Amino acid sequence: MSKQVIKAFKYRIKDESVNAEFLQYAADAFGQTRFVYNQLHDYIDKKLEQGQRLPSCIDLNNYVNRELKKQHEWLQGLVDKFYFTHVVYEIHAAYQEYLKGTRGKPKFRRKYAPRQTVSTNFTNNHIRVDAQESTISLPYLNKERRIKVLLHRPIEGRMLGAQITRHVTGDYYVIILCDVEMNDLPQNDNYVGIDVGLKVFVTYSDGSSYPSLKAMYKQQRRIKRLQRSLSRKYNGATKKSQQEKKVPRSKNYLKAKAKLARAHEHIANMCTDTAHKIAKELIDKNQAVFAEDINVQGMVKNHNLAKAAGDAAFNSLMRKLAYKAQWNGRVFLRVDRYFPSMQLCPHCGYRNTELKGMKRLKIREWECPHCHARNDRDSAAAINILHKGMSLRQEGGDLRPRGWKCSEVQSLWRTPRVR
Ligand SMILES: [Zn+2]
Repeated sequence: MSKQVIKAFKYRIKDESVNAEFLQYAADAFGQTRFVYNQLHDYIDKKLEQGQRLPSCIDLNNYVNRELKKQHEWLQGLVDKFYFTHVVYEIHAAYQEYLKGTRGKPKFRRKYAPRQTVSTNFTNNHIRVDAQESTISLPYLNKERRIKVLLHRPIEGRMLGAQITRHVTGDYYVIILCDVEMNDLPQNDNYVGIDVGLKVFVTYSDGSSYPSLKAMYKQQRRIKRLQRSLSRKYNGATKKSQQEKKVPRSKNYLKAKAKLARAHEHIANMCTDTAHKIAKELIDKNQAVFAEDINVQGMVKNHNLAKAAGDAAFNSLMRKLAYKAQWNGRVFLRVDRYFPSMQLCPHCGYRNTELKGMKRLKIREWECPHCHARNDRDSAAAINILHKGMSLRQEGGDLRPRGWKCSEVQSLWRTPRVR
């Protein structure tokens, strides 16, 4: 079976293209969309307070074009008009979810948010990717209308639109979204259960494992050091007296901050890279992948940095498994979070309640009191998860991956635009 999926191709903009002109354009684009978003936020809030229904996308778009643009002339003609259409769709979707109760109230956008993004749609061939020159042309952007990027892979499929993103490190990226036709991988009879942990990152039910994320934890120590260094730099913004406020943040403060941001980004990249590699291999090799459904949000609230990094990597892996399974016609299933995968003996099914609670984390190996088999904790858990997953699959359990908002993402890019 084949299906249409939206793939994003993300390219770093080369430093030589991040010139004054580009920076001015980006500042305009981020500033104007942020302003429009916040104005719409205000507008919707007022409507809701008056007891009215959520205005439709068309209403919101009319408000932008007929009122906001008239009142604020600087909103006219500097940036792509689709930027505003996307803002309309984004805030409308956010409020719809809020009113349904599935998400919290949308927040106002901040100028100093770590990540800024604008989105545009592909019309009249106004976005072009030149693979030979490694350039991308975007509407309204500098005179030659092309920017140099690190084109590390070619784009595929039909172009839907583009985004420009600034990361907190000050790096800029272009993301090209494409409609790509994906075919299911040929079926096979391999099934795998995985257990995720700190000492060993992933243990597979066949006994093999992916080692600990040691390199990542090492980076965490570096972050700790950089944070200490940052806290010693002069930051007038937190000082009380008027005299001191004249220099809000010292040069050294800003330098240390940039270093810290880069370290954070580095660790995030490592995490994404590892997750992609593991998920790709699992989905390529197996017809179905089963994992535990752990309440990670509850787990994150602790001060152990390595643990926090491990949780982030775990979340990232689960998301990637979910969509890669869908793209390739595989099954990814997360078993119940209350399933005692750690306590069961994979050979006879005996439940060892001694392994309950925090203490169990220290026990790497245990002997089953019933059948006297020696069990390695992690691989036993992976095998139990595999058994549980297989039985759920036979019962026709809910096979849809959780946390995958495919349809919502698609609606934003695939519905016809309002003019
Ligand atoms: Zn046993």
